Amino acid sequence: NKDSKKRYRADVLIEDYPDFARHNSGQGDSEKYPVKTPSQIGDIIAYCRCFMKERRYGYGSKSELAGSGEIFSRLFDNLGDPAFIIDLPDFKIDHVNDAALKLYGYSRDEFAEINLLAISAEPEETKYALLDSESVIRERLHRKKNGEIFCVETKSSYFEICGRKKSVTVVRDVSYRKQAEQNLKNYSQTLETAIESASLGFWDWDMERGKVKFNDILKDMMNLNTSANEGDESDFVDLVDGNGRIAFLNKIKSHWRGETSSFTHEFKIKNSTGEERWINSLGRVIERNVDNRAVRMLGFNRDITESRRAEQAIIDSKNRAEESDKLKTAFLANMSHEIRTPLNAILGFSRLLSRIDLDLTTIRKYNDIIKVNSEQLMRIVSDILDISKIENSQLELFSGEIEVYQFLKDQFSLLESLIHQAGKSNLKIEVKYPGDNALILADSLRLNQIMNNLISNSVKFTDSGSITIGCGEVNGEFLELFVEDSGIGINSDDKEIIFDRFRQVDNSYTRNYGGTGLGLAISKKLAQLMNGDINAESEPGRGSTFYVKIPVAEKSDNDADTGELSVNIHAVSGRKTILVADDIWHIHDYLKALLGSKMYSLLSAYNGEEAFRIARDNDNIDLVLMDIQMPIMNGIDSMNKIKGIRPDLPVIAFTAHAMMGDRGKYMKQGFNEYISKPVDVEVLYTLLDKYLA
Ligand code: ADP
Repeated sequence: NKDSKKRYRADVLIEDYPDFARHNSGQGDSEKYPVKTPSQIGDIIAYCRCFMKERRYGYGSKSELAGSGEIFSRLFDNLGDPAFIIDLPDFKIDHVNDAALKLYGYSRDEFAEINLLAISAEPEETKYALLDSESVIRERLHRKKNGEIFCVETKSSYFEICGRKKSVTVVRDVSYRKQAEQNLKNYSQTLETAIESASLGFWDWDMERGKVKFNDILKDMMNLNTSANEGDESDFVDLVDGNGRIAFLNKIKSHWRGETSSFTHEFKIKNSTGEERWINSLGRVIERNVDNRAVRMLGFNRDITESRRAEQAIIDSKNRAEESDKLKTAFLANMSHEIRTPLNAILGFSRLLSRIDLDLTTIRKYNDIIKVNSEQLMRIVSDILDISKIENSQLELFSGEIEVYQFLKDQFSLLESLIHQAGKSNLKIEVKYPGDNALILADSLRLNQIMNNLISNSVKFTDSGSITIGCGEVNGEFLELFVEDSGIGINSDDKEIIFDRFRQVDNSYTRNYGGTGLGLAISKKLAQLMNGDINAESEPGRGSTFYVKIPVAEKSDNDADTGELSVNIHAVSGRKTILVADDIWHIHDYLKALLGSKMYSLLSAYNGEEAFRIARDNDNIDLVLMDIQMPIMNGIDSMNKIKGIRPDLPVIAFTAHAMMGDRGKYMKQGFNEYISKPVDVEVLYTLLDKYLA
C-alpha cells in the first residue's frame, strides 16, 4: 500500500483462471494472455488489486479479484496507444501491450531483453523524467526497432508493488500530428511570404465583436495610425472615401446576406498627406452563427493606384489618339478650304488681269488682291512646313540680340498695316513701352513670326475697341512682350487647347473666322525653343492678352550683331552682273523685270553645268543666284565647282526648299547666303546691297 507502506501478499490460484491454466499448459491464446511466468502473473494480480482499490471496489473475493485481473489485462492490451509497465529505477519493461509491439517493431521477448531507455532517442531526458515521478504529459522522441525516430507524447503514472517503484507509461504517436502542425506552419509561412511579396493587406473581421485584425501591410496601405494590429471596424469603414462608402457597405451587406459568393470592391481612400489611393478589397465570410448570420470574414486589400493610373493613362492616350485623328481629319478639310480660298482669288484675278480693257486702277486693285492672297497662301505653306519640322525636332534657331524698342516699332507698323488691310480703322491701336531700351536674346525671324501671328489673331478676332502691343519691365532674366485686344475672348476651357496643333475654338463649318489652328502651336514651341514661353489671359466677350516671355540678353557696349540681315537699303554702285541659275524659265523673266531698274545685267543658266560654264567664261560676273534642284547638275555641285575656280565670287542659294533651319544648312555647305522662293523683294535687295555695294 502506497500510503501505509504495508505490504500485501497475493496468492494466485491458477485453477481459478481457466484461460491462464490453458495458456500455461501450452493450449492458451498466447496473443491474448502473454504472461508466462508465475512472478509475472503474481504481479498482474497485484496490479489488479491496486486497480480495484483505486476504483474503490475493495479487495473482494477471489473470483472478484480474478475478474479485476481480467478487466485490467483486457484494458491494458486493448489500449489503442502503446503502453508500458516499467520497473524503476532500472527501466526494465515488465509489460508491453499489443499497440507497443506494433508501433516499435520489437517482439514481446525482445522488449523483455531491453529497457525503456533503449526505445528513447533522448535517453538521458527520459531517465530523469521518469525518475522525477511527476505525472505530466511530455513530448519525446522515440526510436523504433528499425531506427526510425518519431515524436511521441508520454504520460507516466507511478505506483509501488512489493516495494518496487513502477511506472505505467502510455505513449501516443504524435508524429502525424506533429507533421500536420509542421505542414500548417510551413503553409502559413508560405502564405505570409506570398502575402508580403504581393503587398497584400490582410484583414480578419470579427463582426460580433466589431473588431478587425490586420497585418502591417494593411496598416501602411490604409494609413492606420496605430501600433496595434487590431482596430474597430468603424475606423475601417470610415476610411472609405465619402462618395464610395454607401456602395461599399451595400456590397458587403449583400455578401453577408449570402447573395454573393464573395465580396469584391474598388474604392478610394485618402492617405495622411491627402493623396487619393485606390484600393481593391476582396473577402469572404468564413463563419456564420446558428441563425446563419455572418460573424467572421477574411479578406485582402490591394493598393491598385498605380495600375489605375496606368489604365487611366492608356484611356487618356487612346482618347487623345482618337481626338488627334478627328482633329487631323478636321484639319485636312479645313486646310483644303484655307488653301483653296486664296488660290481661288489668285487664279480668278490673274485671269481677269489678262483682259485687255482694264484701266490702271483696276489692274492695281487686282494685283493687290493677288498679292495679299499669295502671301496668305505662303503663310499657310510655311506653317505646315514649320509644324512638320517641329514635330520631327528638326528645328534650328539662330539666336541673337534684339533691341526691343526697334522691334516693337516694327510690330506696330505691322499692326497698322493689318488693321488697314482688314478695314478695321475703327480700332484704337497703341504701343506701350516702359522706356528702358532692353535687349532680348531671340531668333529675330522667329520672334517676328510669333508676334505676326499674335497680332494677326488679335486683328482677326477683334471688331471694336482696341489692340495694344508692348512689353513689361525686365523681370529677372526675362522680359514679357504682349498683345492685348478687346475682341471675342476665349473661355477658360479653351485657353490651354488653343496652343495644341490644329486646335481652334470653333472647328465647325459655320465658323466666322478662317485659319489653320497651327499658328499658336508653332508660336508656343518657337518661344520655348528660345527658352521662353507663351501664355494667354482671356475673358469671353472682353478680350485676350497673349504674353511672350523671352530671355533678356546681357547688355554689351558693342553693337548687337544678330547674324541676320540688316533691313537698311543702300544704293548699288555701277552696273553689276548677276548670273541666275534656275531651270524654271519664269524666274529669269521675273528677276529681269525686277532687277533691270536697279542697274543690273543678268545672265541666265538653266542647269548647274551651264551655270559653271558661264561663270568660268565670264570674269565680269559679280554674284550668282543659284537654285538647288536642277537637272544635269544640282546647285550644290555647281556652287562647289564655281568656288573651285572663283573662291571669292558670292554664290547665293535661291530655292523653294524653304524649311526652318535651311539657311544654316546651305551656309554650312559653302553658300554665302540663302534666300527662299517665292522671293521677298526687300530681302533680295538687301542681299544684293550687302554683296555688291
Ligand atoms: P488660327 O488663328 O489659324 O485658327 P491659331 O493657333 O493662331 O490658329 O489660333 C487657334 C485658335 O485660338 C483660334 O482659332 C481662335 O479660336 C483662338 N484665338 C487665338 N487668338 C485669339 C484672340 N486674340 N482672341 C480670341 N481667340 C483667339
